Amino acid sequence: MEAMTFVLFGATGDLAKRKIYPALYNLYLDGKLPEAFSVIGLGRREIADEKFRGNVEQSLRQFSRRSPAEGEDLTPFLSSFRYHPLDVSHPDDYRKLLGAIETRERELGLPDNRLFYLSVAPEFFDAIAVQIQESGLGSTRGWKRLIIEKPFGHDLQTARELNDNLNRAFEEDEIYRIDHYLGKTMVQNLETLVLANPVIQAVWNKEHISNVQITASETVGVEERAAYYDQAGAIRDMFQNHLLQVLMMTAMRRPSQITAGNIREEKRKIIEALRPVSKNTVQENIVRGQYAAGELGGKPVVGYANEPGIFPGSNNDTFVAARLWIDHPDWAGVPFYLRTGKRMAAKSTRIVVEFKNPTEDLYAAKNEKTAPNLLIIEINPNEKISFLFNGKSSRTEGESRIEPVEMNFWVDQSVLPEAYERLIFDALNGDATFFAHWHEVELAWQWVQPVLEAFEADLLPLHPYAAGSNGPDASDKLLQEQGHEWWLDP
Ligand code: NAD
Repeated sequence: MEAMTFVLFGATGDLAKRKIYPALYNLYLDGKLPEAFSVIGLGRREIADEKFRGNVEQSLRQFSRRSPAEGEDLTPFLSSFRYHPLDVSHPDDYRKLLGAIETRERELGLPDNRLFYLSVAPEFFDAIAVQIQESGLGSTRGWKRLIIEKPFGHDLQTARELNDNLNRAFEEDEIYRIDHYLGKTMVQNLETLVLANPVIQAVWNKEHISNVQITASETVGVEERAAYYDQAGAIRDMFQNHLLQVLMMTAMRRPSQITAGNIREEKRKIIEALRPVSKNTVQENIVRGQYAAGELGGKPVVGYANEPGIFPGSNNDTFVAARLWIDHPDWAGVPFYLRTGKRMAAKSTRIVVEFKNPTEDLYAAKNEKTAPNLLIIEINPNEKISFLFNGKSSRTEGESRIEPVEMNFWVDQSVLPEAYERLIFDALNGDATFFAHWHEVELAWQWVQPVLEAFEADLLPLHPYAAGSNGPDASDKLLQEQGHEWWLDP
């Protein structure tokens, strides 16, 4: 891997502490960082280098999946780290930063390969990109790259504006938009599962698949993120980015070769083929909800409207379910059901693929029915693939009966890298396969925009659902119209 400088905006923030430093440390343990590596952490406050390194060490002890041993000397890892104060709105600070980076590049004999990581509030993204350009930070003879956190825009227009500003300093192939779902083991595994297995590939189409269900349910409420979440809602926080990315990864067709460019091209074809919703059709295909008071884990919890920091009478969505159609010849007539919500009965991110069942009545003479085959890909908290098929069991009073049998493939989670490790490693290597391309982001916003407008114009009811439930009844009806139901815990 090429020697480089890792410039981290937001080095004193929560994400840096919980995810970025632990990811760098685990990459270091696995020998996956460049031999010559300089990290420049940036934040508004003045902090001495020693103190900064102490904070990084503290975050490793608290958050790293492999924690340093008591008394372990972390100097070999931490000696790469320097701190530099910078206020994002002060142009002078960027020029000083350039001096600090160049000094380290000279000290370490580094080429001027620079990776800028924006782990700051989204309102700063534009200004930083512009300043990287104007201060000369981005004028390198080596390469430059930009990693940018979510959210990428608040709607279609702001996403386009942000992208235009980023493009003033970076080419598309230099921009790495993080969608951490794309770093998750099972989401990355989808590509192999579907494309590298001829048996699965053969049935991955409308001939055999009845419907696809993608769920991301959380048991937590809005927690400390009230100010952000009350403006974003489930539609922006989860649906426009993570769920649509998982949909693209699930539905993409086989390219001639697996390359970053081909995978992104196949994903783009899927999001391009999503049948648009309009103000007239949004009511039929989208359900909005907000959690009311209820019970979780045997304890009462308050409703969204009574959470600290939530605007009184807020009509923000904490639940969204949608029925989507992909106007692609291979997916004609196959509904994709997506849903996400907070304060739901279970924490679960999963894809359930329900296969068509032409054998349902094969045993009618024996008064039995077969169940549809299901392929369940659990993304979180388990990382597991299950296949449900029909088997014969003689457990029922000596009589043979057909019942669903489950075949499981568990991933050993104890050895798995975290999403941030994979994604940072890929960005260091210049591999953008599992980052969101601008086309995907723009098309996802384009699809979601009429839904946002319908929400704002109050065209959709906001269904209350009890905390600890599976969401509003209306989301069940969305599936019943097609004769389907959510597979909860088969
Ligand atoms: P944070 O508020 O904890 O940290 C913000 C950082 O920005 C701090 O280092 C602070 O010093 C710096 N900062 C604030 N104002 C500044 C200024 N004027 N000039 C220079 N630096 C300034 O935020 P966070 O939770 O770490 O989130 C960072 C980014 O990551 C955001 O875009 C957020 O949406 C995204 N993100 C965070 C999480 C998470 O779990 N924390 C998850 C996903 C995405």
